[in-house]
Amino acid sequence: MEGVKEPALNMTVKARFGTAGIPNGYKGRTSGVVAFLASMGLDAFEYEAVRGVRISDEESRALGEQARAHGVKLSMHAPYYVNLGSSDPRIWEESLTRVRQALHALEVAGGDIVVVHPGYYGNSPKEAIANVIKGISALGGQGRVKLGLETMGRLSQIGSLEEVVDISTSFPSFVVPVIDWAHLEARSLGHMRNKEDVESVLDYLDRRLSNRELSELHCHFSKMEFSSRGEVRHHNLDEKGFYPDFSVVAETFIERGHPSPTFIAETSNSANDALTMKGIFSHLSRVTRTRSYLVALGLCQNTRQVDPASYSEIRTLRLALAGANSRAPRL
Ligand SMILES: [Zn+2]
Repeated sequence: MEGVKEPALNMTVKARFGTAGIPNGYKGRTSGVVAFLASMGLDAFEYEAVRGVRISDEESRALGEQARAHGVKLSMHAPYYVNLGSSDPRIWEESLTRVRQALHALEVAGGDIVVVHPGYYGNSPKEAIANVIKGISALGGQGRVKLGLETMGRLSQIGSLEEVVDISTSFPSFVVPVIDWAHLEARSLGHMRNKEDVESVLDYLDRRLSNRELSELHCHFSKMEFSSRGEVRHHNLDEKGFYPDFSVVAETFIERGHPSPTFIAETSNSANDALTMKGIFSHLSRVTRTRSYLVALGLCQNTRQVDPASYSEIRTLRLALAGANSRAPRL
């Protein structure tokens, strides 16, 4: 059994997990929140400027320094009151100003990505999308901060997967898609539930994006309630009857070896939900690693024969492996 080759599935996927905004239980200066998150084992933070960019340059700088000191990836959510699709010049200009303010604040902080809701279709989807593209051109994108266009949950909003990817690929060094899995569940009216659904999203991104753009994919995650018009509201991870299921999303990323995704918990229980996601992800990583070794060792026909449900099963498998292979992986 010596010399069993590590199968492709054994590739370890490093993912980051964090919160959208200040989590429950934290009091103090904004810049201190990253130390709080890092002490819990989290390594991403999305500053929510959703009601306006009110952070001073001094506080942005302090937040950035803390984020670097604690190894936390820093992003910012631009104000909700943005409609780059608007044909009203005043609304369009004001939207641009708000996005510029967010880009400036995150540039000062030395962060990575400003997440933006593109806007609304209004009477003419074609014109609205052209307005978004005109707006992004006007932003320039000379800095190091990326603009992340988010997949949106309401059918009246610009932001299907195809639209955010189309617009992103028009600005290759500036704009990237941000995948909000809950919004995809809403927008598809309940078709972001099984492995094939998640696969189809990642397949599409694989086809359309460069390797550099695919790595460090920025994602939002929560569960979602929707109506025939799309998004109604976000739900916490422990609320039954809502989707997507993080296990399904995580397992798909792990099995594909998708490089370095970030998952931001957008729930009212964000720190706990981010930790829950991290726990699910590392558990499924171990299960996938074990499965792939078992297949390579010929102890198991295919990777589907192992139920990822329990840790005790993994321990049993580890014992089996230890007997079969003196270089069994540490699980
Ligand atoms: Zn958003």
